[in-house]
Order: sequence, then structure tokens, then C-alpha cells
Amino acid sequence: MKKAAIITGASRGIGKAVAYTLANAGYIPVINYLNSRTSAEQIAAETGGIAFCADVSDSDAVKRMTETAYEKCGGIDVLVNNAGISVTGLFTDITPEQEQNILDVNLRGVFNCTRHAVPYMVRQKHGRIINISSMWGEVGASCEVHYSATKAAVIGFTKALAKELGPSGITVNCIAPGVIMTDMNAQYSEEELNILKEETPLQKLGTPEDIAGAAAFLASDSAGFITGQILGVNGGFVI
Ligand code: NAP
Repeated sequence: MKKAAIITGASRGIGKAVAYTLANAGYIPVINYLNSRTSAEQIAAETGGIAFCADVSDSDAVKRMTETAYEKCGGIDVLVNNAGISVTGLFTDITPEQEQNILDVNLRGVFNCTRHAVPYMVRQKHGRIINISSMWGEVGASCEVHYSATKAAVIGFTKALAKELGPSGITVNCIAPGVIMTDMNAQYSEEELNILKEETPLQKLGTPEDIAGAAAFLASDSAGFITGQILGVNGGFVI
């Protein structure tokens, strides 16, 4: 029987690459999206997956998505908490509304998706939770204080939940990507991207497939004794 993997924010960027990679590894990907319906449906059609619209910050919507995934796939084996947004600017220029929004998506979204998936995994006595943080959550980024704070919280969440869920046979790990070429980095100028590239020991920026490969490893049997870890996939930017 095929295994099911819910990937949040899988309509574009990193999540999209994770969906294709996990499909190639034999999973049925549940392609969560918010706005990019056409893309999500195309990915679902190409991977034999299921496209599902749900705002990760909306607990009821996430519950419906998780129930549907279980009904259609007969289990929930992997959850990749990938959906995220960024907000750039001086800390004091970020409005309370922007602050609430990034906390709701990047942190509450992870809580919501995990809360609804865990009971199924506990019943199965097996599950893999993979959270997408950021290297900025490890070292902090100027003018991305809110973003860095949410991503640091995801690291703390990963470590604590790994201890709580280990006895249930569920691993919880985190990937902390470096600069990955997706729409999220559209705000950087070419010059800024070149500087980031030069600062990276491997002298290149990452691709969504770099992160997808790490996620597939953490979902695989080879990673069965790994939990509570933060895997930096950043070309050596943060060591
Ligand atoms: P992206 O290209 O901007 O894609 C974001 C994805 O998240 C889209 O599929 C979007 O769906 C979805 N999404 C946003 N808000 C959502 C919500 N409320 N509910 C459900 N889905 C939502 O971003 P990315 O670069 O692939 O980033 C993916 C993750 O990696 C994020 O958590 C990000 O913080 C992290 N990360 C990225 C980088 C990087 O350099 N790119 C580095 C470190 C960490 P729709 O299009 O359907 O709305």
C-alpha cells in the first residue's frame, strides 16, 4: 500500500519540489495550497496526488484537509510543514497586522497541521514530521526579525515535539535551508543575490530540489534513528 505525505505550501517553490520527490519515492502527495490552485492541481495530476486548499493558519480547514487525506489514503505517514511567508523591514516598521499574519502562518500553521496529523500517526505507531525552518532561525537576519523569530520557534518546536513523540515511533526533524531560489527571494536584487552567493562557501545558491532531497532522506527508512535534529542545507553559509 502506498504511503501518504501531506506537504503544506506545495503549489510552488520548495513544497512543489518536495511533492515531486516524495511522489518519486512512492508516496501519495497531498498538495496543500492557498491561492495557486491551477499549479496545485497540475502537480496533483502529474504525481497521482491530491490537491487541497487550506489556509494553514485556519485550524478547521487544516482538520478537513487531514481528514480527507486519511480517508483517501488510509493513513498519514509524513507531514512536511513547509508553508511559510516572509516579511522584510526594520522591526519597528512592521505593523501589528503583519506581525499577526506571519505568526499565524509560520508558527500557528505548523501547530495546526501537526495537531491534526499526530493522532493518526500515534495510532499507526509510525510517522515522520519534517519542519522547514531557515538558517535565519539559527543565526538571525537583520530586517527579518519577525521571520527569524518564527523560524527559531520552529526549531524549538521540533526539539520538544521529538522528545514527546519519540515513544510513539514518530520522528520530528527540521531542515534549515539557506538561500533557495524561489519566489520568496524575489525581493532581492541581482547584486544582493550575488553577494549572498559569494558569502556561501559552495559559491552557489540552493534549489528547491536541494531541500526536497533532504526531506526525502528524513522521510526514508535510512533516517529511522534520527529525531529532533536541525539539518542545515545552506551550502555552508551557516556552519
Ligand atoms: P514560496 O515560493 O513563496 O512558496 C510559498 C508556498 O507556501 C506557496 O505554495 C504558498 O501557497 C504557500 N502558502 C503561503 N501561505 C500559506 C497559507 N497561509 N496556507 C497554505 N499555504 C500557504 O516559498 P518557498 O521559498 O518555497 O518557501 C517554503 C518554505 O521554506 C517557507 O517556510 C520558507 O520560510 C522556507 N525557507 C525558504 C527559503 C528560501 O530561500 N526560499 C530559505 C529558508 C527557508 P499559494 O501559492 O497556493 O498561496
